[in-house]
Formats: sequence, C-alpha cells, structure tokens
Amino acid sequence: MIAFRNTIIAVVVISLFTFIALFGRLPALRKTPIGFSHRLLCIYIPNGFRRVDTQFTGGRMNIAIARTSNYLFNEKNPLVLLLFLVLLTGSATFFLQAALPHLEASLILPIPIVLLAPYAFTYLCVTSKADYITPTNHASAMRQYPYDHILFRPDNVCRTCNFTKPARSKHCSLCGVCVARCDHHCAWINNCVGRHNYRYFLLLLFSIGIVELYGAYLCWHILAPHLHLGNSSYGWFEKKFWAELGNAFVFAMSIGGISVAGVGLLAITTMPLPFALFAYHLYLVWAGMTTNESAKWADWRDDMTDGVAWIGKRSVVDAYNKERKARHLRNRNRMSGLPAEEADPGDGEEDFVPWPKAADQVLVSTTDGKAPTGQEQLWEKCTSLDQVENIYDLGFLQNFLAVLQGR
Ligand SMILES: [Zn+2]
Ligand SMILES: [Zn+2]
Repeated sequence: MIAFRNTIIAVVVISLFTFIALFGRLPALRKTPIGFSHRLLCIYIPNGFRRVDTQFTGGRMNIAIARTSNYLFNEKNPLVLLLFLVLLTGSATFFLQAALPHLEASLILPIPIVLLAPYAFTYLCVTSKADYITPTNHASAMRQYPYDHILFRPDNVCRTCNFTKPARSKHCSLCGVCVARCDHHCAWINNCVGRHNYRYFLLLLFSIGIVELYGAYLCWHILAPHLHLGNSSYGWFEKKFWAELGNAFVFAMSIGGISVAGVGLLAITTMPLPFALFAYHLYLVWAGMTTNESAKWADWRDDMTDGVAWIGKRSVVDAYNKERKARHLRNRNRMSGLPAEEADPGDGEEDFVPWPKAADQVLVSTTDGKAPTGQEQLWEKCTSLDQVENIYDLGFLQNFLAVLQGR
C-alpha cells in the first residue's frame, strides 16, 4: 500500500513538473497558475533564496547557485534530454520485461516501431543544425521570407552575428546563432526548433504520445481481466465508484507490480502533455505562426488593448519618409553647394522576396498613445488584431505542407 501511494505521488509530481516546464513559458498561459508556477520555480524562488543567502551567509552560496542556475537555464546543457531518455528507456525496460510474457505476438509486433520512433525523432531534432544562419548561408536565408513590417523589419541587425536578421529568424543566446524561422529553444532536445527540424519536433511530440498511449493500452490489456471494473453498479458521480476504482488500482499494483501498473499509470498521467503540446503546435501551424511569433503577436495585442498601437499603409508611409529624406538632403546639398542629383540615394530598399501573400501594412506603437508626431494623417488607431494581416499564414494546408517540407 505504501509503495502504491509513493508511486502515485512520484507520478503526480513528475507529471506536474514536466507540465510546468513544458507549458509554463507559453504566452497563452502567462496569466494562469501554470505560468505563475513556472515563474515561481525559475525566478521567484531562486531570487528569494539569493536574498536569504545574502542576508545570512553574506552571499557565500550565491556564487555556486548563480553558476548552477546559469548552467541550468542560460547554457546549453543536455540534462532535460538525458532525463527524458532515462525515463523513456527505464520505463520501457521495466515494463517490457514484466509485460512481454503476458502479451500475444500481434501486440508485440508494433512495439519496436512505436518505441524506436521517439528515439529516431529525438536524434533528428538534436543533431539538426540546418537552421543555423551563418555568414555563408545568410544571403539565401534572406530570401526565405519577406519582412512583414509588423513582427519583422529589415532594419534589425543581430549584434552578435553581425548581420541583418532575416525575417522570422531569432538569435538564440543558448545556441549562439541566429536561427531560421525560429520557433523556440527547446531544453528537451537541447537545440533550437526552427525551419528545418520543426517537422521532426512535431513528429517527436506525436511519437511520444503514441508510445505512451500504446504502453497504457498494453498495461490495460494485461490488468483489465483482473479488475472487474465493468461490473460496477455505481455511477461516475458517486463516491463509491471512485472508491471502487481506487481499490481496483491497488489491486492492479498488487498483481502488476510497479513495472506494469506503475509504468502504465505514468504513461496515462503524462500522455496529455505530448498530445497537448502537439495540438498547440498544430494550432500554431493553422494560425501560420511560430511560438516566437505568437509571443510577438501577444505583445501587439497588449499594445492594442492599451490603445498605443497605430496602423498605416506602408507604401504611403515609405513614400512620405522618402520624400522627407530627399527634401532634407536637397536642403543640405543646397547649403553645402553639392549638385542636387545626389539628393535621392534610394536607400532603405529591401530585396524582393517572392511570397504568395503581401500586405501593405506597417504597425507602430507610441509611448504616449498618440499618433506619430507630424504624421498624424498617415496613421489610424489599431484596436484589434483583426485589422492586421499575417502574411506568413497561407492557410492551414499550405502552412502544413511548408512545415513538412522544412520551408
Ligand atoms: Zn544572431
Ligand atoms: Zn537555441
């Protein structure tokens, strides 16, 4: 009974921490208990501990803590990846050595494929470096996506890599490079998820869900004949139903042991995580955005709610700025005696990138909530994301095909 209780506690704790670690940073969950728990574990508790240490030991432990937390959160390290591989390999080994004698050949047959898939996709995700933007492939990275002038603008230079950031890319401080169509840096695979390996990442999530689903099914298949759950005369909402279910679990533990019942329980309780994450990423594909872009859209939405976002026609704003610049140059040249021809250098032009969708839009946010000074006639207040077009969203099918093809 104690072993059963401890297993339940361990399973719940592992599930909860995994959930918080995986979902805590999602912009959509920023204001929920999951987001708060993530901040509590990663920011508030370490900060509080630092303060206590400074007060009582003069900060002697701070250096060690800073070094450890720096390694854990700010450096690329394989700890989460190792933990995942150990959990998967350990659970599968425990489970199979106890379960195999009780399974028919038809149920054993799919095991190698189902079990090897997560390893294969993990390998592909971990080793992928095709998305790293270097000076050599920078020119082709610039031709992958056009700038939308809302989330990505051509005047953004990466100070570390020393080049203009291509549209949809992001510099990852952990990987130390700019990453093409950067989704997020994933501690799980100890690598960035980007344009090329996003498909493997989706398949990894799906394959983990499947391996857990199949494991849970096999566990059920072995234990169900002993459980007699179908005979319960109580309804779902009756206390006695749950008492009976609890008893059935205790019984399952006694006949299946930790290897079968424990692993089955772990599979059932953690299964929603990869499937939920997979569903979330399918939503992102449907919406035509990356995790990084969803955070940027969320920031714009906040600005719109605060009433400080302004939308303008890019062609009009560009023409206005060009004209203003030309006038300024003409005046300067006239005063310094230079020929007037040099007045219009035509700079600021970005390279044309063929893309099925274009939007003549530009968004700005102002600190005082007023339209940009002197250009009030060019801007209109933007109050909803519905007024803005996401040019990277080509419709679910096209988005999905692009992901599958790594483009
Ligand atoms: Zn960079
Ligand atoms: Zn990274």
